[in-house]
Parts: sequence; C-alpha cells; structure tokens
Amino acid sequence: MKQQLTIALSKGRILEETLPLLAAADIVPAEDIFSSRKLIFDTNHAHIKLLVIRATDVPTYVEYGGADMGVSGKDVLLEHGGSGLYEPLDLEIACCKLMVAGMAGAKPVDGRMRVATKFVKVTRDYYARLGAQVDIIKLYGAMELAPIMGLADRIVDIVDTGNTLRANGLEAMEHIADISSRLVVGQPAMKMKYDLIQPILEKLTAAVVAKRGG
Ligand code: AMP
Repeated sequence: MKQQLTIALSKGRILEETLPLLAAADIVPAEDIFSSRKLIFDTNHAHIKLLVIRATDVPTYVEYGGADMGVSGKDVLLEHGGSGLYEPLDLEIACCKLMVAGMAGAKPVDGRMRVATKFVKVTRDYYARLGAQVDIIKLYGAMELAPIMGLADRIVDIVDTGNTLRANGLEAMEHIADISSRLVVGQPAMKMKYDLIQPILEKLTAAVVAKRGG
C-alpha cells in the first residue's frame, strides 16, 4: 500500500487562500470543507488526507507527527517556537504584520510598560531584544480593548488593513515582523516520506511563483 500523507490546514481566513494553492498542486478535498463539520477530509488522492484544525494547533500536530505537513501563519510559528519543524516554503498568503499599537497620540510610557497580547513569547522576545522590561498581560481576543480600558499601555497584535485599530482609536507604533503563511513539514516526515512530499513542494512552489507573477 502507498504511504499515507496527512496535511494539517489552519481553519479560518488562511484556509480560503490555502485551498486554491493546494488545487494548483492537484490536491483537492473530496467534499466542500466550508459546509462540513468534519475534521478529516479525503482528497482526490487515496493516500492524501487533510486535517482542518485551529491555526495554533497546526505546528503541534506537525511537530509531534500527528500530521506530516501543514500550513501555518508565521505569527503562530513564532509563538510556537520549537525545533521539530522544517519551513521549506513561504506561501505568500494571508500577509499581514505583527505590530505594537497603542492609543492614537499616546505618549511614551514612563516606567514599566504593560503590554497586552495573545503573542506572549513573541512579545517577550521583542522587548528582550530591545532591553526593555515590560509586564505582559495575556489575552485571548479583542486586544484593542485593553488600552481603551486602561488594562494595558500597548498591545501586540496582527495588523492587516489597520481598520480594526483605527475603528477603536488606536494606531500602529512599532513593526515587529512581517507575517505570511508557511508550509511546514515535520522532521520525521521529511525523512520518511520525502518521495511523497518533494513533488508537492515543487508544485506548490510553482503555484506561488505563478500567483506572484499574476
Ligand atoms: P485589520 O483590521 O485589517 O488590520 O485586521 C486586523 C485583525 O484581523 C487582527 O486583529 C487579526 O486578528 C485579524 N487578521 C488580519 N489578518 C490576519 C492574518 N493574516 N492572520 C490572522 N489574523 C489576521
């Protein structure tokens, strides 16, 4: 029997941009992912399955071999850390920026700054590089609310158009990293299933280049 290959996809906005790239690499789900509550999907290839899971779980699945490869935002990968993953291809989708933001026109903070974020590791690493001591407050959503309510002086969050910040009276202040979605491959899979992975990698690379050109 042919070896099986499992690809973990991030639910949500990344998924909409991932499926056309997979299709260009001739991997198509056997049914409509968006209208199903399934977590595992068959594809047009008997040996390839797709997992559709929370974005933050993709690196964990791939690192521990629960999936062979996956598609994950660089923000999630930075926050995940870890070393069990190869990141062979920038898919150049779901592009955005990880930024420090605060109330529009806010003055520099005297003393120890409070920073609210769901990206605790990224934020800690960023301020450590700057040599600044900050208190990090972990939130799970609606970071923009924290400076408005006086919970924090700054937030670290993803910014795309900047509309969410603007709508809440905030502005971007410092750029931490450019973000896009990456193809990730588990280290064991890269060794044991290279023959299956390599042609997919080639087709995806061609699809990314073609999309860039158009
Ligand atoms: P915007 O208002 O266009 O700046 O979008 C900002 C919000 O959308 C952020 O709070 C993020 O939660 C979300 N967002 C935008 N782009 C992405 C992305 N590529 N990946 C994950 N979340 C995103």
